[in-house]
Amino acid sequence: MIGWIILGMVLLFFCVILLRTLFFRPEEKTPQEISSIALNEEKIVSDMVDMIRCKTVSDREESQVDRAEFARFEALLQERFPKIHTACHLEKIGKTGLLYHLPGDSHEKPTVLMSHYDVVPVDEAGWDRPAFEGLIEDGCIWGRGTLDTKGTLCGVTEALEMLLTDGYRPKQDLYLSFSGEEEIDGNSCAEIVSYLEEKGIVPALVLDEGGAVVQNVFPGMKEECALVGVGEKGGLNLQFTLASEGGHASTPPVNTICGKLAKAMCKIEKKPFSYQLTPPVKKMFDTLGRHSNFLFRMIFANLWCFAPVLDLYGRLCGGEINALLRTTVAITRMEGSRAYNVLPSKASFAANLRLLGKDNIQSAKEYLHRVIGNKKVQIDVVNGMNPSIYSDTDCEGWDTLKTAISQTWPEAVVSPYLMLACSDSRHYCRISDKVYRFSAMRLSKEERASIHGNNERIPIPTLLKTVEFYVRLLQMI
Ligand SMILES: [Zn+2]
Repeated sequence: MIGWIILGMVLLFFCVILLRTLFFRPEEKTPQEISSIALNEEKIVSDMVDMIRCKTVSDREESQVDRAEFARFEALLQERFPKIHTACHLEKIGKTGLLYHLPGDSHEKPTVLMSHYDVVPVDEAGWDRPAFEGLIEDGCIWGRGTLDTKGTLCGVTEALEMLLTDGYRPKQDLYLSFSGEEEIDGNSCAEIVSYLEEKGIVPALVLDEGGAVVQNVFPGMKEECALVGVGEKGGLNLQFTLASEGGHASTPPVNTICGKLAKAMCKIEKKPFSYQLTPPVKKMFDTLGRHSNFLFRMIFANLWCFAPVLDLYGRLCGGEINALLRTTVAITRMEGSRAYNVLPSKASFAANLRLLGKDNIQSAKEYLHRVIGNKKVQIDVVNGMNPSIYSDTDCEGWDTLKTAISQTWPEAVVSPYLMLACSDSRHYCRISDKVYRFSAMRLSKEERASIHGNNERIPIPTLLKTVEFYVRLLQMI
């Protein structure tokens, strides 16, 4: 009798799993009315080339920054986008902030389109073509910043200039918010936000760089997806230190401080932070999981029972899925004695944490203290920031963005996701819960790898699509 009951329960369990998997189907796509947009390709390409020729390289060391190049970039914007400079009020804020304001019919639901025009340095030796000449070869514009993110800056400005030429006036206020020190966590963007905050402006849509139109990034899914960041993980740098009497290496103690720190590191790696399913990741699994193959659909449709499987997969494999599901710890630096035969009087290691969900700077530090279990190991916070708030996906701003994406890349499945990196957009979370992170470009794996790396370049059709996207977005706001 008991045997039958157990068998019945097992069968019921499998039926539930199977039915939930079968009903976990993609949402019906609303067919989009796609109007064609005529673009002035020659102008767009020539503007982009000249933007790349401005060597707006950021550096934490001010003496290394060539301010004349930044001034050249500003002057280029004035020269190439006369309509924008006539129709908009331009406010220069902080060291590099440029805030353009185009009044709309209403001031109630302003939109902010963000970008940054500074770039990271290049290692010229690793490049096959020059990084700041804007060379065009095989239909690609070469150069640092083409993808990160003068490409989107060019997209916004070209689209607005073109629409203004045709007599465009937005229904709602529009702001273009550009910073020239995003890559070094500079203050310009934060100062722009403070300026808007003082004026009591609450944006109904903020768009900054972030996800993109990508393929083969989600388990078991072949279709393209457009990933829109609706939140960011936090970041935290910690320093772990142990001190000793020092001494000669010929008469060492049984356990050296380096050995003790090594033990601490092993403990940290063996005890990862706990699994958390945050709202952006849950929404991403619910949207993209429906497009996965049967095995992954079964998992994503039944997270109520497969969450431990996902947790284990993350623990064992690391990488992106793991980073979406927990606070991660990467041990990045170690320091002991400077000589082979001297016991260090002080040894240390450092870790870079990416905070998720409920974890914050204080709780993460306390957790690692407990894991290490050695009170003598001193843990110091070097710097850090807590995870961002999560943006709303049940609002007009999100719907507008989703429509503009679907009209530009009709094949792509639009999905919320959680950004693992940090961007300037987090400053806007102070004044809006409708902050989205999407770099309006279709990017291959190689192209994504060239961001902050070697041989960064943008195919011209990719750039034209970016302009198209902004034209559609602007027409809707
Ligand atoms: Zn960037």
